[in-house]
Amino acid sequence: MLALARLALVLVFLMALASPVALAQGPAAVAIAAEIGGGLNGTTKLTLTLSKSVEARAFVMERPDRVVIDLAEVNFQLGPETGRKREGLVASFRYGLFAPGRSRIVVDLAHPATVAKIETVTRAKDGAVLLSIEFQRAERDAFRRAAVASDPAPAARKDASVPEAADKRPLIMIDAGHGGTDPGAIASTGIFEKDIVFGFARALASRLESSGRYRVRMTRDRDVFVPLSERVRLAREANADLFVSIHADSISSAPQVRGATIYTGSERATDSESAKLADRENKADAAAGTETKAAPPEVADILQELTLRETRGFSSGFAKGLMAHLSPVIEMSPKPHREAGFVVLRSPDVPSVLVELGYLSSKRDLDLLQSETWRAEVTGGMAKAVDAFFGNRTSLTRPEPPKRSAAVAPVSP
Ligand code: ZN
Repeated sequence: MLALARLALVLVFLMALASPVALAQGPAAVAIAAEIGGGLNGTTKLTLTLSKSVEARAFVMERPDRVVIDLAEVNFQLGPETGRKREGLVASFRYGLFAPGRSRIVVDLAHPATVAKIETVTRAKDGAVLLSIEFQRAERDAFRRAAVASDPAPAARKDASVPEAADKRPLIMIDAGHGGTDPGAIASTGIFEKDIVFGFARALASRLESSGRYRVRMTRDRDVFVPLSERVRLAREANADLFVSIHADSISSAPQVRGATIYTGSERATDSESAKLADRENKADAAAGTETKAAPPEVADILQELTLRETRGFSSGFAKGLMAHLSPVIEMSPKPHREAGFVVLRSPDVPSVLVELGYLSSKRDLDLLQSETWRAEVTGGMAKAVDAFFGNRTSLTRPEPPKRSAAVAPVSP
């Protein structure tokens, strides 16, 4: 009897110990405010007002100088202007979901700085939790040492991909650009490219899926950061037959520039404008606080080089079809098919295109990008181009570029 009572006591004690952990795994904390105070010469403090306490960890990165703060999942309910004002050591900051269950804040520094303190205080009047991160101005050498010491290994996204050997329908991977900590281009109205392209990508996916002719997957299915190389890996690993990346550009200095452009991958860009755009888009990983790995060594492989060349032929073929089906329904830019070295267009064995739907910097384009009617017309045009690409033939006889593992021998018609 005594032993039982003691056991019960131990259990109660253990449950008391465990409860904070259980609480921490509940619904995501909500952030309702973010404030910055301080100067450029001493310390600057970023304070988040949260619904509950979250774990936070910070590290610094150089070129560009940043502080990256990793948090448990936080639902950021902050105004569109939040993070865009320069204050003290902070030039600007971005935030968002970085991986399932993890959020991230990326702080662009106005001067090298390290994190002096991370502190959590519960506000007595309403129980809100104030998480403050204090930045301390640092000299370049000290900052560099801190950056070298930080080693952020991005969590590899593990997808439980079920083999779909039985389903022979072509697989189309739709890639909504940016996401999570990386907003992409930002319109003057405060709307983010990541949200516009995600809405479009989802509409395109359901359009294709509803035809019943394709299997469709997305590289991201919500507002989450996915590294560029991961997008390529997802397409290759799924043995995708086509990869379509959706973006929207912005040139704030030229609000009159309009129209859609279709890009295919190439080491040599069509023009300097395309090269600059690819550079901007390729910086997505850096914007979110990870580094883009250099092109994988396998690209140097001669066999892969040949495969890539053949695949790029298919990519161009699809791009031409896309152009033909889109021009009747969408304003195209003066040079609607261009080439540039986008990281996401480097799959050696998956025909890939990147579509810049229009310009967030153009008032007219921005209106269209947010119009349901326009979206339905454009996804319709794209679906027709996809049908034409796969030639309405049976999946086994479609023009299939060689795959890494040629497990299935091509079947002649
Ligand atoms: Zn983009």
